[in-house]
Amino acid sequence: MTVSTAKAEILIVEDEPEIAELIEFHAQREGMNARTCHSGRLALDAIRRQAPDLIVLDLMLPDLSGLEVCRRLKQAAETRNIPIVMVTAKGEESDIVAGLELGADDYVTKPFSPRVLMARLKSVLRRQLEELPRKEGNRIVLLSGSLVIDADRHETLIDGKKIDLTLTEFGILQCLAIRKGFVRTRDQIIASVHGKHTMLSSRTVDVHVTALRRKLLRHAECVETVRGVGYRFAESHTEDA
Ligand code: CA
Repeated sequence: MTVSTAKAEILIVEDEPEIAELIEFHAQREGMNARTCHSGRLALDAIRRQAPDLIVLDLMLPDLSGLEVCRRLKQAAETRNIPIVMVTAKGEESDIVAGLELGADDYVTKPFSPRVLMARLKSVLRRQLEELPRKEGNRIVLLSGSLVIDADRHETLIDGKKIDLTLTEFGILQCLAIRKGFVRTRDQIIASVHGKHTMLSSRTVDVHVTALRRKLLRHAECVETVRGVGYRFAESHTEDA
């Protein structure tokens, strides 16, 4: 099934006019309807009046910070489900982590390539429109069927052969796979696995990921480290933005 991401309403929250124009230009070229707010307060007003399909949110804004805008949007029931892609400067890993934990979907780092940003926006929009990853029965199918997670049976299969994962490794894999292509912070991984069986800390997440990768054999590189932020299940083997 192909899902059209054209005609989506995009709100750009960015105080730097050239960057806002650049994003607008490329979004419009993709067929999206883009508008810009130059401050956090203006953005919150605009969003309350007319909710967009997606928000591109710069974190460094003059009045309300992007993180505060994100927090307020995620607190309110009527705006909670609007996806947010953050735009951050290099070296703002702690803000990226904070934003993801507040519920932002994704981020790009300045200076970004418009092609990469558009790919991220389309990916987030597509997630809204179709459930990813594809579910077949209770199975989550990854990588065209060669790597399969059976959520109900707590089984992971490579080329149809069961591989032996601990409950924690399975939990981490599942947490990442459900949001394929999107970064999860260590705390998000811990929250997702927590209570099911074991105590996890940031440090032990790394240890479990190392063990998980070893067991995934040729699929090891699917579990990507995003330095300073967390982990992500690669969208595909061959391409990465
Ligand atoms: Ca800015």
